[in-house]
Amino acid sequence: MSFTNKYVERVYNELAVKSADEKEFLQAVYEVFKAIEPALEGHPEYEKNGILERMVEPERFILFKVSWVDDQGKVRVNRAYRCQFNSAIGPYKGGLRLHPSVNASIIKFLGFEQTFKNSLTSLPMGGGKGGSDFDPKGKSDLEIMRFCQAFMTELYRHIGPDTDVPAGDIGVGAREVGYLFGQYKRIKNDFTGVLTGKGLTFGGSLARKEATGYGLCYFTREMLASKNTDFNGKKVVISGSGNVALYAMQKAQSLGARIIAMSDSSGYVVDENGLDFEVMRKLKEVDRKRIHEYCDLVKTATFHEGCRGIWTVPCDIALPCATQNEIDLESAKTLVANGCMCVSEGANMPSTAEAMDHFVSSGILYSPSKASNAGGVATSGLEMSQNSERLSWSFEEVDAKLEGIMKNIYKAAYDASCKYGYPGNLVVGANIAGFVKVAEAMIAQGVV
Ligand code: NDP
Repeated sequence: MSFTNKYVERVYNELAVKSADEKEFLQAVYEVFKAIEPALEGHPEYEKNGILERMVEPERFILFKVSWVDDQGKVRVNRAYRCQFNSAIGPYKGGLRLHPSVNASIIKFLGFEQTFKNSLTSLPMGGGKGGSDFDPKGKSDLEIMRFCQAFMTELYRHIGPDTDVPAGDIGVGAREVGYLFGQYKRIKNDFTGVLTGKGLTFGGSLARKEATGYGLCYFTREMLASKNTDFNGKKVVISGSGNVALYAMQKAQSLGARIIAMSDSSGYVVDENGLDFEVMRKLKEVDRKRIHEYCDLVKTATFHEGCRGIWTVPCDIALPCATQNEIDLESAKTLVANGCMCVSEGANMPSTAEAMDHFVSSGILYSPSKASNAGGVATSGLEMSQNSERLSWSFEEVDAKLEGIMKNIYKAAYDASCKYGYPGNLVVGANIAGFVKVAEAMIAQGVV
């Protein structure tokens, strides 16, 4: 790992020793540190105030057990986490992930990233993340409910509408947020906006479900406009078929794009005629089925096993919306060689460090997740505002605010890239824009 700034290098090397077994977390820190180096030159106050040392340590990291009983009456135990990373600019805010791969490293990387993403939205939200290694796949509705209730029975004491406001992420959608909210309310006897992504009948925001995918497309549209082009007529590949992927599909289609491939963790479907949004949404969101079944419904589509193959499908625009490190260097090279002109990240950290370097050095349009997928948390921020006001805004009002926020994030990232000498490099721009605000708030609040 090479850095030019001595302060950055020292803090990273110390962290690499202390967190040697947390590879995703180190990867996320490396990306941020490498990108913000230009902002540290000529600013000794950051080192004097120990900003980087303090930024890489979560303010609080809670590890807890979740015991629950399955449908066969067997006791099950999962490991769960809440990482309250940084509250310099607002209450901790970030999703909960339920997936067997969840561990301390993944939760820390997500919480660290969230801090800068939330800063970019310009809303007052700190960074946090949580989750469990519980696997929702194949579980009955009652098992999901029992797990969520057991999870909240511990989590409730650590969160609150002005302290820490969790939301959804992989494996946590409206159903899970509903069960979590119900249990919080039962224990606390308090009806507050303690979670976002709630159902519309109990304080949820219109357009929250669509927000990450729509926001990704609004951001990507700004990127494309910088090269005097747009989505119209473009072939788009989207990985995943969950919340983010589905609504990126819907918005990209409405902007004139053709979505030719999508995936889940078993493989991907391709249809050069364009995939059908309503068929895909019903299959994945309503019926919770596997993606290969799309081919039973639409005969022109073909199924291919395995995930990485999706990046070999030639396209103009790639929107990775599944999970971390899903694009390695080889996939990145294939995408660029096949003529892909824009990679805009919907998932958190979907590109490995090498893949990211390849996108940047090849000169295609490339956006890191903390900028392009910030629409979800931004709309969660809008849900918090509506809950505080005890009002509900219309879909159009929320969507218009989301669009404005995504345009502003693009502008902030682009302007910072120019100011610090890397015009158009959104990795540098987004990280610096997110970092400076958090750092200044930390300095103003003293050593806490
Ligand atoms: P969902 O659980 O709704 O969907 C996840 C999708 O990704 C599913 O299609 C899943 O397939 C697929 N997937 C998961 N793991 C893998 C894997 N190892 N390889 C290939 N595909 C995989 O999650 P979301 O759509 O909410 O989240 C997707 C990404 O977006 C995550 O990185 C998340 O952190 C990020 N994100 C989400 C936000 C939100 O508002 N929901 C906000 C900002 C970022 P399968 O069903 O087979 O597991």
